[in-house]
Amino acid sequence: MDYRKIIDEIYREVKPMFGNGKVANYIPALAKVDPKQYGIAVVTVDGQLIGAGDYQKKFSIQSISKVFTLAMVMRHMGSDLWRYVGREPSGSPFNSLVQLEHEHGIPRNPFINAGALVVTDKLMSLYDRPKESILRFVRDVADSEDIYFDNEVARSEQEHASRNLALGYFMKSFGNIENNVDSLIDVYCNQCSITMTCEELARSFMFLANHGINPYRHDRILSISRSKRLNALMLTCGFYDESGDFAFRVGMPGKSGVGGGVVAIIPGRLSIAVWSPELDKHGNSFMGIETLERFTTDIGISIF
Ligand code: GLN
Repeated sequence: MDYRKIIDEIYREVKPMFGNGKVANYIPALAKVDPKQYGIAVVTVDGQLIGAGDYQKKFSIQSISKVFTLAMVMRHMGSDLWRYVGREPSGSPFNSLVQLEHEHGIPRNPFINAGALVVTDKLMSLYDRPKESILRFVRDVADSEDIYFDNEVARSEQEHASRNLALGYFMKSFGNIENNVDSLIDVYCNQCSITMTCEELARSFMFLANHGINPYRHDRILSISRSKRLNALMLTCGFYDESGDFAFRVGMPGKSGVGGGVVAIIPGRLSIAVWSPELDKHGNSFMGIETLERFTTDIGISIF
């Protein structure tokens, strides 16, 4: 498979599509990002790296961090976790409050904000130094020590966190949050503020393309079964109320963030990360999804 040729062609075709989406503006520090940026990185199980455009520029990973925190919690908690958070698509926007009242404070899945807050709350109870542990985990799976929180983005999000605070307090009223809500939002805003490049992100998802084993350190992150389950959750819930459409158009488990990053994998084959900050109306990168749709079409392989 000539990934180089395919990626270069897609890059050329998709690059003129700037202007079809909008940069996230509800977190002021994110609104300042130059919209006209676009990068792609593919990493294969046999060790190839194919990059195009801005694939070595750092950007805010935002909700992609929810995959890392979920993996960290799944290492320690078995089926008990699913008493606190569900595993069904929500069909609602990522920061919606509406289902929580009817469903007694149990969020639909770990990738909407409410569900990610439950996961981070569990992480805080499992790890003594949650923020440091998150960075350690991400650096290990990405095989890069050059990964940090962006303090300006974290602070900016914390100053505009009314909705996430509301989700936290609301779930606490149902007894579904163990820790102090302000500390929870602090850890959550920091995990979202992590900056990475497409290359680092593509590498960091390789353990999910590699049946739970980190290929860089040769250690098992998740069992085969838990790795399969995390991939299943990304397929059904990774793109919020656009998850069905993403499966239909692209056919890979993946995760997006409002910083404009999208990462997806094909088990046993590869991981691909795309970044372009302009978002569609569901909060997913317009050019990111466009790129991935062309990619699975052109290589003729998806998980289906
Ligand atoms: N930090 C963002 C928030 O909580 C993450 C949302 C996202 O990337 N979809 O609103």
